Amino acid sequence: MRNGEVSYWWQAHGLVPRRPPLPGGAEADVCIVGAGYTGLWTAYYLKRAEPGLRIVVLEASFAGFGASGRNGGWVTASLPGSRDRYARHPRGRAGVRELERHLRDTVDEVARVCAAEGIDAGLVKGGTLTVATSAAQDARLRRRLERERAWGDDAGIVRYLEKGELAERLRVTGAAGALFSPSCARVQPAALVAGLAAVVTRAGVLLYEGTPVTSISPGRARTAAGEVRAPYILRCTEGFTAGVPGQHRTLLPMNSSMIVTGRLSDEAWKAIGWDGFETLGDEAHAYIYAQRTPDGRIALGGRGVPYRFGSGLDHDGAIASSTIAQLGRILRRMFPAAAGAGLEHAWCGVLGVPRDWCATVTLDAGTGLGWAGGYSGHGVAAANLAGRTLADLVRGVSSPLVTLPWVGHRSPRWEPEPARWAGVRSLYALYRTADRLESARGSARTSVLARAGDLVSGIPH
Ligand SMILES: Cc1cc2nc3c(=O)[nH]c(=O)nc-3n(C[C@H](O)[C@H](O)[C@H](O)COP(=O)(O)OP(=O)(O)OC[C@H]3O[C@@H](n4cnc5c(N)ncnc54)[C@H](O)[C@@H]3O)c2cc1C
Repeated sequence: MRNGEVSYWWQAHGLVPRRPPLPGGAEADVCIVGAGYTGLWTAYYLKRAEPGLRIVVLEASFAGFGASGRNGGWVTASLPGSRDRYARHPRGRAGVRELERHLRDTVDEVARVCAAEGIDAGLVKGGTLTVATSAAQDARLRRRLERERAWGDDAGIVRYLEKGELAERLRVTGAAGALFSPSCARVQPAALVAGLAAVVTRAGVLLYEGTPVTSISPGRARTAAGEVRAPYILRCTEGFTAGVPGQHRTLLPMNSSMIVTGRLSDEAWKAIGWDGFETLGDEAHAYIYAQRTPDGRIALGGRGVPYRFGSGLDHDGAIASSTIAQLGRILRRMFPAAAGAGLEHAWCGVLGVPRDWCATVTLDAGTGLGWAGGYSGHGVAAANLAGRTLADLVRGVSSPLVTLPWVGHRSPRWEPEPARWAGVRSLYALYRTADRLESARGSARTSVLARAGDLVSGIPH
């Protein structure tokens, strides 16, 4: 059983030879800090629109080292944030609907670019299932559906599947029903980010790896090797943002952990189903997410240790054995037929969470400084839309993207330590207890502990 080594996805794809670091000072038209999906999509759309632009991407480790090479592989149209909060934007609810429509289209845009550029990332658009595995979860799913309808989402966007309908797609032990949305694709995350890095470098973007940026100021990104001067400096550092000087309380690095099984036998797949390759989650407070991988395994993720004191980071994705055991128990409970395949790899990564859980795409016209992120775990598709939007903002194009309600959104800063650490740890302790109580009681009522947690954290539902 491997633990860490960045992620199973990278081991399966094969690590790409490192690109050289920045050799010394340089000049560019646009300098991008961070080579995950956000930075690379931004570079991709800028270069396509204006092939003559001199674009430099500075990456501390290697392209896809962060969440982009470690995630659950849901290319999801889920809104990264709260509808009600985005609706405070002058465009109100109409703006939120527009943002959601663009996110749904983005799932197809990612698929389109993969096909057009020859990126073989195992992308299959099978939709997404959120299953209820307790009466309380089922009641929450049904209330969620009512809220979706109130916002105007019809059955083409989301619908409830009764237990029998769900079982025709996928057999999950104890599932009472599920919500199904077609706007989601399964992907091999590292294959996507590796493919994207190869495409942009072929197009002439200069991508320097092993080059941590030590500070950012208008017109300058500093590194140990020298500074890159450019009128636009775009910070795309998501869960690592706390390490950038001046940004310590901007985004909380929330940890998420994953395990992957060995290959399942044909009999096991027959017992489970899952021929549609839907991504799969549950409606627990400490929820899980899963996919059937392109190579016939189940990859499943959940919260594990949620946060490290002082916004600390993992070492190459290694996780605690207690987290592996906890995720393994969930996997075997949901899919007893998968038990025989064993577990082969475990890892973790950080996602960026703003204090109000709402993402942003911002360019300060006065300074030329820009940033995008804070997707709170819904960034695989959102980073594409954010990248297209940053590209339009930099080029001064008045496209429909630049007036979406997340453009220019400002979130409050996180509390200083130790309040931040104590708050997040207590929140997830509350959520786990609430999940246990809900399963044990069999009642349809959501635990008051979880309600209290939601109130304090501001997590959108
Ligand atoms: C385990 C896990 C599961 C997830 N599952 C899903 C999912 O299924 N679906 C979904 O939509 N989202 C998911 N997410 C979130 C999603 O992966 C992220 O939102 C997305 O990858 C963010 O991309 P990014 O480019 O903004 O950030 P990252 O991919 O984290 O990239 C940031 C990059 O910046 C670099 N960097 C940081 N600081 C510096 C610096 N000072 N100088 C230079 N470079 C720097 C880092 O090395 C890194 O490569 C998950 C995240 C995790 C961790």
